[in-house]
Amino acid sequence: MRLQPSSVRVRLTLWYTVILAGIVLALFLAVFFSVKASLIRHLDRDVESEFQAIAQVLAEEPNELSEFETEGAGRAFQVLKMNDVLFETPAFRQSGLRVADPATPTPARTVKSPAGTRFRLKTGPAGPDLALTVAVTEEPVRNVLRTLMIIFMLALPAGLILAALGGSIMAGRLLRPVDLMAARAEKISTENLSSRLPVEDPRDEFGRMANVINRMLSRLEEGFERLRRFTADASHELRTPLTVIQSVGEVALQENLDAAAYRDRIGSMLEDVARLSRLVDSLLTLTRADAGAPALRRKEIDAARLVTQAVEDMRPLAEEKRQDLSLSAAGPVPIQADEATLRLALVNLLDNAIKYTPTSGTIVVKLRVRDKETFIEVTDNGPGIPIEHAGRVFDRFYRVDQSRTGQAGGAGLGLAIAKWAVEANGGRIELENREAGGSTFRLVLPHIL
Ligand code: ADP
Repeated sequence: MRLQPSSVRVRLTLWYTVILAGIVLALFLAVFFSVKASLIRHLDRDVESEFQAIAQVLAEEPNELSEFETEGAGRAFQVLKMNDVLFETPAFRQSGLRVADPATPTPARTVKSPAGTRFRLKTGPAGPDLALTVAVTEEPVRNVLRTLMIIFMLALPAGLILAALGGSIMAGRLLRPVDLMAARAEKISTENLSSRLPVEDPRDEFGRMANVINRMLSRLEEGFERLRRFTADASHELRTPLTVIQSVGEVALQENLDAAAYRDRIGSMLEDVARLSRLVDSLLTLTRADAGAPALRRKEIDAARLVTQAVEDMRPLAEEKRQDLSLSAAGPVPIQADEATLRLALVNLLDNAIKYTPTSGTIVVKLRVRDKETFIEVTDNGPGIPIEHAGRVFDRFYRVDQSRTGQAGGAGLGLAIAKWAVEANGGRIELENREAGGSTFRLVLPHIL
């Protein structure tokens, strides 16, 4: 992992180190000041007992004062009588301390000597006309505090460097899955969508994220696969009529035919062109549907009127095959739908029924309302759909009998379009095989009460 100032690892380490430094500093200050206060308290107790001891000697055996001098070389005190020095130890003299008002009793306080040394000093009366000043150097306390400060100054940077190193290594380890995922993701393209991101621990945040991305990749892979199949099937379907048109044209050119025969060939070529146009229209409808377009304008329409119009439009085709096309639709039946799209679904069902039902067959179209749903049913007594194909007839380019293409059958897009069209209107499509033979296709839409 490269270290960049903006990298999460660097930022994590910095935050961690800064927070740690803050905590350590606060702790140190707390320790430093409490140690200082405790040492000064000790010192004050010493000053106090020294003061009491000397005051007692002064009161009881003033001649023994000089013994203090020999006993404790470091002792510093001064006894004033009417502002004149009655007695002072050499240590006090050397300190150069001057006390402004020695007869006033004060608790121990810090005073700085002219040489810069700090003393804890206590003054107070110690007998008639006597003022006693006791001084104890703060030097040992200062030394302890200085040592503490030096240890801290050396230990803090060293500790922080170690903590930063440790933190950086830890952050690096934790963030390793991100690097691995990034490296793998970098290599994923439309060519190898089957590749997946590595999941180190599916329970942690990165593992969960990798799983989410992997599921997204699966969906993308499926989508791409569908698209690839669709393009391949579409090209194949377009190729067939084009080949026919080409060969009919080429053969006609090679032959020496009369005008009627040429007209016949041109007619046959135009039929194929018409099929091609229908196919291109269907493909366009589906690709637009995939792209989320066209924007449907759903509004309240009368389903009875829509069904009647569609049936009447298709009636000539049924009559050509002498089929009995009957309609039962009592209206009005208000539904919320985009008229053109829903009509497309119904026309495809009617077209199939007419196409696949033999000559003189029967086709029944029914509109009914039950509970909160509106049903538009197209029933025929044609060959029906074998149960093993029932689940797949709504797939794109799926045909029950592949050999029927080119004759009665289409490219296998009609039901896929019908399914999309009814679903886009908030409904669904159902297929029911009839025991008596034939099939029923049903458009189910929510009914407006
Ligand atoms: P096509 O353009 O081939 O008609 P569809 O998607 O409309 O494609 O239909 C898919 C297949 O379902 C058709 O090839 C046909 O075999 C079968 N099919 C559709 N409607 C009927 C029907 N009413 N009766 C029998 N088979 C049908």
